[in-house]
Amino acid sequence: KKELLKRYKELPSISKDGKKVEIAGNIGSPEDAKKVILSGGEGIGLFRTEFLFMDRDGMPSEDEQFESYKEVAIAMEGKPVIIRTLDIGGDKEIPYMGIEQDENPFLGYRAIRLCLDRKNDIYIPQLRALLRASAFGNIKIMLPLITSMDEIKEAKALINDIKSEFDLNGIAYNKDIEVGIMVETAAASLLADIFAKEVDFFSIGTNDLIQYTMSVDRGNVKIAGLYSPFSPAVLRSINRIITEGKKAGIMVGMCGEAAADPLLIPVLLAWGLDEFSMSASSILKSRQIISLCDSKALLSKVDKVLEMATESEIKDYLKKIIEEIG
Ligand code: PEP
Ligand code: MG
Repeated sequence: KKELLKRYKELPSISKDGKKVEIAGNIGSPEDAKKVILSGGEGIGLFRTEFLFMDRDGMPSEDEQFESYKEVAIAMEGKPVIIRTLDIGGDKEIPYMGIEQDENPFLGYRAIRLCLDRKNDIYIPQLRALLRASAFGNIKIMLPLITSMDEIKEAKALINDIKSEFDLNGIAYNKDIEVGIMVETAAASLLADIFAKEVDFFSIGTNDLIQYTMSVDRGNVKIAGLYSPFSPAVLRSINRIITEGKKAGIMVGMCGEAAADPLLIPVLLAWGLDEFSMSASSILKSRQIISLCDSKALLSKVDKVLEMATESEIKDYLKKIIEEIG
């Protein structure tokens, strides 16, 4: 079976009816990029930069970060590399940063909220490192946990300030660098039409989107039954995000675990998702599923889930669809 999958390594990610998408990898370090290449990944859809900050005694310097981002950009040889700015807090703690534990960490001081509050010691050095590294490949900047337009505008203003300074001092960077957002909160989903006009791409973070849509802690085993990408509310939200992103003409990807779920791939493909980002080990299998799907013929079938009331009904229905696909 492994041998069979191997032939998909050299093939493009293309559906039976000729729809081309991108299957990218999720990584936590420059070394992981090699695994993505070996697995036939067409880019990096999520570089979780918090891992550069974890398991050490102090902050990585701007230069250290620059070297890591540059390494990935070069390794990917011009393929897209989406680097997410620091997403700590919630389930990822960093002791040396001196951040008090919140009462509700997932609803608290984390990700973009923390970064915009600590511009000088955290955010600006990271954004500078990202912009400098953008001279070496196709880096895109992604902002995590966005809930408001103010956050997008503030982060973009910071990026523009750094660009101006680089122009003044002759520091190389990609002037057309794309800036996108994770759509992983209920607020971002509801405002997707408005946010799509302000950013270059969306990436749906289902790991958090499920948590913030269902009000269920993603790590709590006692309520894990509620944590499902097949929840009707979650699927309606995903449909809305893709539809609004496509309407505005921006790229819409997904980097949460759901992007590699065999039952969901046909749905996401039919709805028009452009990029599926996942762990390297899921890439070939996902490419095979896509190659077996007729996205146009699937659309009317998968749209039925938008009228269904329960998670189990949706899951059973999607199981039948994947059986038909083969
Ligand atoms: C997500 O929330 O879906 C995601 C990809 O990010 P993380 O799992 O790092 O929160
Ligand atoms: Mg997330």
